[in-house]
Amino acid sequence: MAERDRLRDYRGKRDFDRTGEPRGRGTPHGDRPRFVVQIHDASTMHFDFRLQVDDVLKSWSIPKGPSADPKDKRLAVPTEDHPLEYEEFEGVIPRGEYGGGTVIVWDHGTYEPLSHDREGRPVDFAESLEHGHATFRLSGSKLHGEYALTRFRDGADGGEEARLLVKRAGGRARTHGAPDPRRARSARSGRTLAQVVSDAAGE
Ligand code: MN
Repeated sequence: MAERDRLRDYRGKRDFDRTGEPRGRGTPHGDRPRFVVQIHDASTMHFDFRLQVDDVLKSWSIPKGPSADPKDKRLAVPTEDHPLEYEEFEGVIPRGEYGGGTVIVWDHGTYEPLSHDREGRPVDFAESLEHGHATFRLSGSKLHGEYALTRFRDGADGGEEARLLVKRAGGRARTHGAPDPRRARSARSGRTLAQVVSDAAGE
């Protein structure tokens, strides 16, 4: 599918004369696919988890953020595909605009697709996401190790589709989850949400 079409929902929700979010050109770079976790202080505070698949960032809103504790199951609700450049986005989306509020890059890095079928054979990562169960190893500055993203509600009954993001046991298991979003610092700039707001006000 053309990149133009894949970002139609994303562009349709935004006025790029008003928001500083990227319009998106969608040129993949590098060998390993990228991931980003943003903290978004919008009408409700949440984390946005995005995985590069081909020329877009597949995206989920995670109210409580990813956890490094394998016992935590974190709700992940799909949102529209975002452009690759969104990985870099940190700033203030004007009030009244779609997603109005403050965004920081909480973590970013690369990931290794690990999805496989029941016989243990590797399968196409985009297909595994489509089919509802994908596994991958994150190499970020904060998040490390294997995670699974699994659909548990398909939305066919008219409700929202929903998935769970769960850290796999083993490896470098930690017992802490995502931090308090108001105290968390950007992996890009070291800033908190409040500092991004005051920097934007000073511009
Ligand atoms: Mn968001």
